[in-house]
Amino acid sequence: MSKNLIYLLGSGRSGTTLLATILNSTMQIHTLGELHQVYSYIKEKLKCSCGERLEDCDFWKHVLSKMELTQEDLSTLSQAQNYEEQHRFIPFVFLGKNASSDYSKSQEILFKALASEKSTWFLDSSKYIGRFLLLKQLKFLNVKGVYVIRDVRGVIHSFSKKVQTTRGPLNTILYYLLTNIFGQICAWLFKDVVKIKYEDLIENPEETLHKVYALIDQRYDEIIASDFVMPHIIGGNRLKSNKSIAIKKDFAWKKNISRPKQILYYILALPIMILNNYKV
Ligand SMILES: [Zn+2]
Repeated sequence: MSKNLIYLLGSGRSGTTLLATILNSTMQIHTLGELHQVYSYIKEKLKCSCGERLEDCDFWKHVLSKMELTQEDLSTLSQAQNYEEQHRFIPFVFLGKNASSDYSKSQEILFKALASEKSTWFLDSSKYIGRFLLLKQLKFLNVKGVYVIRDVRGVIHSFSKKVQTTRGPLNTILYYLLTNIFGQICAWLFKDVVKIKYEDLIENPEETLHKVYALIDQRYDEIIASDFVMPHIIGGNRLKSNKSIAIKKDFAWKKNISRPKQILYYILALPIMILNNYKV
């Protein structure tokens, strides 16, 4: 039986962790976090969002025991994954470069160990384009993409906060252009990729959820919980350490970035801004 997977695309700080958390509160979707890091997390004994190491976490310990990895597997498979998902290989993968058998094995072991009902959709918020393209090649996975786009100025403002990694505005714009150009190409090329705007998610979450559910051919009913409890996820941003989250409007950049800078950033990201109907 092949496993169903929703894969999030887009730049960091575009609300992907928020979307992943909200989707996890709906019936069919189970959020797992940024799975491109899963082998590194196992190898380096890093902690799940619940605060426990994966081997002690209530969710991941069962997955790990089913994976039955030897030390040798762990080093071969993590190496294959980390190597083949690098950004520099994206053009080759686009042009048809195939995943190696070690790569395929690394994902097969992982996804087979994830227990699921037939209707379950796992959610991977890695965002790496190379990983998305490689996963699409694998026969035991049925992969759909959700590409999240946010106004560049919201992304710049979020990266300027001193919470985790900070990035300067120009560095952010370059990163933003690259990730969104590839995200947009995927949305154009593949009919099973849907584009979601962060701003729409905040203004009207229900409509966004309907879009995602249409993508997976399911009918969206309702959010199960009124407040969203963080699932056991790998990686992700600072939301993960909160016990629960709420959908808050984050348009602080409109106040905190001066008007001339807002216009400058808009111009520097012009193609993506215009394509997505963002206003100056
Ligand atoms: Zn956990």
